[in-house]
Amino acid sequence: MSHLLNADLHCHSVVSDGTLTPEALAARAHGNGVQLWALTDHDEIRGQHRAAAAAQALGMDYLTGVEISVTFVDTTVHIVGLGFDADDAQLARGLAATRDGRGERAQEIGAQLARVGIRGAYEGALCYVDNPELISRTHFARYLVDTGHCRDAGEVFRKYLTEGKPGFVPHRWARLGDAVRWIREAGGMAVIAHPARYRLTANEEYALFSEFQQHGGQGVEVVTGSHTAAEYATYAAMAQEFGLAASRGSDFHSPGESHTDLGALPGLPGQLTPVWQLLHERILRAAR
Ligand code: AMP
Ligand code: MN
Ligand code: MN
Ligand code: MN
Repeated sequence: MSHLLNADLHCHSVVSDGTLTPEALAARAHGNGVQLWALTDHDEIRGQHRAAAAAQALGMDYLTGVEISVTFVDTTVHIVGLGFDADDAQLARGLAATRDGRGERAQEIGAQLARVGIRGAYEGALCYVDNPELISRTHFARYLVDTGHCRDAGEVFRKYLTEGKPGFVPHRWARLGDAVRWIREAGGMAVIAHPARYRLTANEEYALFSEFQQHGGQGVEVVTGSHTAAEYATYAAMAQEFGLAASRGSDFHSPGESHTDLGALPGLPGQLTPVWQLLHERILRAAR
């Protein structure tokens, strides 16, 4: 399987903070020419069997997926897991523990927003939530946009939901070593998601990559909807420096909100080893 395969290994459904069902995402991915797909909901794998079944019914190969929220030196970092056993009990327990606390955090976000004059945001955000264990800042953003408080999600995050802003509630997520271990011990591969998004210093980034690798992490997203073309080159070089496999994924959430559609990214730079080469035996093949 070459680096030119149209693989999209990062997106979200209603099971976390996307707006499409796993089945609708599978159809959209297939329609856009995706040949190997993974649904990677935040801290949650309950969409995996549906996604795999929908993909295979369409003739599209599938890798199981998840995006775990991790706290690394006071920064939230996302670790994607690919190709794990979706029925693994330790992974399920780890993810449940990671989701735990989202409810209280959301109530606190609502209370803080009320103090700056935005009432009913917690209840409002809940109306957009499909999975009661997975209320996210994205649901608040949708509520604030639809009620006219902000023009788009970007403005909501800039004004209210990021560090230092009135609706930001700090939260401790999973530990890096735990997240990597849950994925690996379930038979999968851990991948650093969209590294350019974290705005780490060079030293902090080096520490993240080194610790990730010491824990057994094996991949990094190089081509993602969150990176610029210059960042593809930066993280292609990082992948080579650390001997990590490279992944590709749109991080698609919603037709109206996401600027990068499923399957619509450029290919991986040719000198890299694609994650799907190492995950060969973990791919759920569609009948052909
Ligand atoms: P949470 O896991 O509740 O902290 O929410 C994180 C989610 O918020 C991410 O997965 C993105 O979907 C979304 N998000 C973060 N920053 C932004 C932004 N600047 N604009 C739009 N969505 C964002
Ligand atoms: Mn998200
Ligand atoms: Mn992410
Ligand atoms: Mn994501």
